[in-house]
Amino acid sequence: MARCFNFCAGPATLPVSVLEAARDDLVDYQNSGMSIMESSHRGAQYAAVHAEAEANIRELMGVSDDYAVLFLQGGASTQFAYIPINLLGEGQTADYTNSGAWAAKAIKEAKLLGNVNIAADCGSEIPTRVPSIEELQLTDGAAYLHVTSNETISGAQWKTFPTGGAPLVADMSSDILSRPVDVNQFGLIYAGLQKNLGPSGAALVIIRKDLAERVPESTPTMFKYATHIKAGSMFNTPPCLSIYILMLVTRWLKAQGLENIYKQNVDKAAALYAAIDGSDFYRGTAVAECRSDMNVTWRLANEDLEPEFVKQADARGFKGLKGHRSVGGIRASIYNAFPPEGIDALVSFMKDFEAKNG
Ligand SMILES: *Cc1c(COP(=O)(O)O)cnc(C)c1O
Repeated sequence: MARCFNFCAGPATLPVSVLEAARDDLVDYQNSGMSIMESSHRGAQYAAVHAEAEANIRELMGVSDDYAVLFLQGGASTQFAYIPINLLGEGQTADYTNSGAWAAKAIKEAKLLGNVNIAADCGSEIPTRVPSIEELQLTDGAAYLHVTSNETISGAQWKTFPTGGAPLVADMSSDILSRPVDVNQFGLIYAGLQKNLGPSGAALVIIRKDLAERVPESTPTMFKYATHIKAGSMFNTPPCLSIYILMLVTRWLKAQGLENIYKQNVDKAAALYAAIDGSDFYRGTAVAECRSDMNVTWRLANEDLEPEFVKQADARGFKGLKGHRSVGGIRASIYNAFPPEGIDALVSFMKDFEAKNG
């Protein structure tokens, strides 16, 4: 078996043991004579998978009974609209921070649905960063404050969150479960599965239950969090296969230990940033104190060499290093499941490439 080093931003690399477990159970799930994809979502077999996925998330993140854990279709992008539909009442204002491309998308949807105050805007600054807590201009009595925990494209990440005011809503699509967070500091956390949690096909939503009661009565049923809380994310057919893989990934995470994963993530990112900083041939694109541990972004001093860098890396089995089409440059997405050996191998390729082209 030849596995490449997969630096793709999402969908992204998964633990090999998860893929193997899924393969082994694919055709005949635990002697049931059918796969989990073919099994009724109302049956006991799938119910156990669904319940374990939720229980694992609750355990790993320390989610109390004040919060619901939901699996909803439409990815993280659908949540950009769900949140204002459910949480932003008539005449109220929601505070949003603009830290880059993903925050901007969330803001665009919210503006279609209600009043938005941009509490800080550094979305188009280069080098890239997230706002500091001190610079936020918050609205008194805001419905909520939205942050993008990790900007996947620019590689900037919040290290501490602005807590203590309006309910904090965080898009954690690209750094969920990469580090410990105190869920009680948040009103709502959401994340598409396909970066750190599994395959695409659903978003994980963790919502303080009282916030779901704000929704106007006239909202269509499927667009109310309350509907899905009441039905345990089974109001309609859930994305069973995605949730099954999520269950396996969270099992794997529990076996690793979140603290260990976090430490490994910090070490992996530090090794890569050290290689970037250690040479004038490369230059990081995010402000140092905001550098993401999940998406490491940089440029070559000679940007004309970037296509060649990506091409040669690809030929050596380093896949997906090309920066997002909107910003160019190089991006290494190194989520939980990305192996440390892959970082060492990339660093030695970078040195090699510099020696030949520097
Ligand atoms: C990938 C990503 C999204 C979009 O996720 P989809 O599930 O494709 O809608 C939203 N926010 C962030 C921060 C992301 O990285």
